[in-house]
Amino acid sequence: VTGQARSTTEGKDDCVFCQALKLGPGAESLILTQDDLAFTVLNKYPYNPAHLLVLPTRHIADLTDLTKDELLAIQLQIQTGLQIVRQVYSPAAFNLGVNLGRAAGAGLPGHLHHHVVPRWSGDTNFFPLMSGAKVVSESLEQTFSRLWAVYQNGNKK
Ligand SMILES: [Zn+2]
Repeated sequence: VTGQARSTTEGKDDCVFCQALKLGPGAESLILTQDDLAFTVLNKYPYNPAHLLVLPTRHIADLTDLTKDELLAIQLQIQTGLQIVRQVYSPAAFNLGVNLGRAAGAGLPGHLHHHVVPRWSGDTNFFPLMSGAKVVSESLEQTFSRLWAVYQNGNKK
């Protein structure tokens, strides 16, 4: 077995996250917020609605290669993500985590990403009552625009 968590064989050029970064924040990239050190993107293949990914802006595979500033920037964006998803979706709970390396389940191991997954009792196909209407599911575009609106308000402060 030669697989290593530190594998950095996946290059920047064919990295979907680095390609999204080139587009900048918005509906096309699904990036909700971005700064020099970290960014937050809506997962294209969500386990649940409003499943966020928080990543270093640098194409880095392993947590141990991040600087302290990058670690802090990521944690701050996770915190913001929790606050905004709570505000918009009122989930019962969250799963937070990293799959470090392909053998751990990382589909895109070349660019480290933290998962922020809102959870509801009895999910994944159940969506809670919101504003009196039962929403069974929503499109990625709908999720993006709902979260985008709140991220934009936050940035104006
Ligand atoms: Zn990348």
